[in-house]
Amino acid sequence: MHQFGVEQFGAGSAAADAEIIMIGYETFRRFGLAETLTLRLNSIGCPDCRKIYRQKLVAYLEEHKSELCPTCQERMYRNPMRVFDCKSEICQGIAKDAPYVTDNLCDDCATHFAALQESLKVLGIPFVVDPTIVRGLDYYRGTVFEFVTSTIGAQGTVCGGGRYDGLIEELGGDPLPGIGFGLGLERLLLTLEAAGFKFPAPAPVTIYLGAASDDPEVDVFLTKLASELRVAGISVDRDLMGRSVKAQMKYADKLGVRYAAIIGPDELAKGTVQVRDMKGEGGMELTLDNFAAKLKECL
Ligand SMILES: [Zn+2]
Ligand SMILES: [Zn+2]
Repeated sequence: MHQFGVEQFGAGSAAADAEIIMIGYETFRRFGLAETLTLRLNSIGCPDCRKIYRQKLVAYLEEHKSELCPTCQERMYRNPMRVFDCKSEICQGIAKDAPYVTDNLCDDCATHFAALQESLKVLGIPFVVDPTIVRGLDYYRGTVFEFVTSTIGAQGTVCGGGRYDGLIEELGGDPLPGIGFGLGLERLLLTLEAAGFKFPAPAPVTIYLGAASDDPEVDVFLTKLASELRVAGISVDRDLMGRSVKAQMKYADKLGVRYAAIIGPDELAKGTVQVRDMKGEGGMELTLDNFAAKLKECL
């Protein structure tokens, strides 16, 4: 699994939240996924209002304790908000009428959350407030969000993030606000695939460097030349398998390279090489000295 993430430290404002969410939204929009993904937004409050909310929620769950599934019963004191993502229909019914964190925010948290929603509206970023979104870790404060899709099955959260103002302190540092998100690359690819995204074909390799013999001197020269070409911005592939010249040319053809050059002791001695134009007729003779610059002129 691979993740792409954005983190921002130092600013605790709702404007910072909006900017981070905008980066996520804009990433998806440019992939044509603005309609595919839904931004779900919540505020889980600060330690002060969360504590009061938690007590309210636990008190509510206690009223329904005997109806809750065994898992929810077991975790209702430790992690009462998990009732919101329980799969049991009975628990879902109970959760529907449970007190929501968004109705129990302190003034500061409520103001922050309202300001964020206002900013998102101004930015034209659609969202739904989902008071059931939680983050498993205690250092999360205030804003939490997810970009979800229904097109890739049950695990539809492509991107999840939130404000973690308690993190740095928990790690032993001075208090420092922070917000960020993680975007799952595999899930992004699945979502793109489901949306019929046209993945661009990889750019063809410009030149294939072949070895005319297994002479170690040739091998070292090819390593150096390939590196010089890459530094010059020219894509290159070279023989690493000790293939025969015939097999190398076949491989170069399969790669769809524009040019191929086979280099052996003779070429090293002469200081020139015949570069074959794989797409057209014939080729050209180039000096090995300053080869990258000369080849660049032909592109
Ligand atoms: Zn609060
Ligand atoms: Zn349950």
